[in-house]
Amino acid sequence: MGLCIGRQQGRTRRWWQRLVAVSRVNGVLRSPSPQLRRSDNQRSAILIQADMSMPRDDLPFCECRWLERAAHDQHCPVEFDPKLNEYNLKTTNGGSMRIYHCPFCSGRAPESLRSQMFAVVSPEETVRLHLLTKGITNEAELRAALGEPTHIFEPGVVSIDAEVDGHAPEIRTAKSLRYDQHSETATISANVHRDGRVRISFSGKYIG
Ligand SMILES: [Zn+2]
Repeated sequence: MGLCIGRQQGRTRRWWQRLVAVSRVNGVLRSPSPQLRRSDNQRSAILIQADMSMPRDDLPFCECRWLERAAHDQHCPVEFDPKLNEYNLKTTNGGSMRIYHCPFCSGRAPESLRSQMFAVVSPEETVRLHLLTKGITNEAELRAALGEPTHIFEPGVVSIDAEVDGHAPEIRTAKSLRYDQHSETATISANVHRDGRVRISFSGKYIG
């Protein structure tokens, strides 16, 4: 870890191992919120997706308050983001990874306020954007239909498979093109994969 010193190190390593172990079971660690926010500030758009099972909405919320105590412990790399009401695991390179479940009781972390920070894309606008991008299968067709992207990120997406049968997880990367100019409420994202295929999605614009 390199974050704790002296006698705290052994204890921290144990809970870290436990956190990682739980994450492999429940998909606790997923895309980091600061990186998502940086993408909206146009500084970076690298989105790390761990292709594990989704956070478990069927579990009750954590009531043991482990995350709350960890966030107040200066020796634990857990921090609370009051703006988003989310807990994150700080990484040694200055980033962070969102924590979805309590590593002690497996209860869900508090409800995030993240959705309130993005514009709502209406059903009518979704249909319009679908028709606007219908039939696009590669980057040339994408640029012919939508023009020059607002941002190009290389790589824009890093996806990591779940570990299966002792084999190391595969890491895949893709270029990402973002278009902000075609909708008042939505950003169009197009991920260009290694085989040339384009995967298009829409998301609400960041409104803070
Ligand atoms: Zn708990």
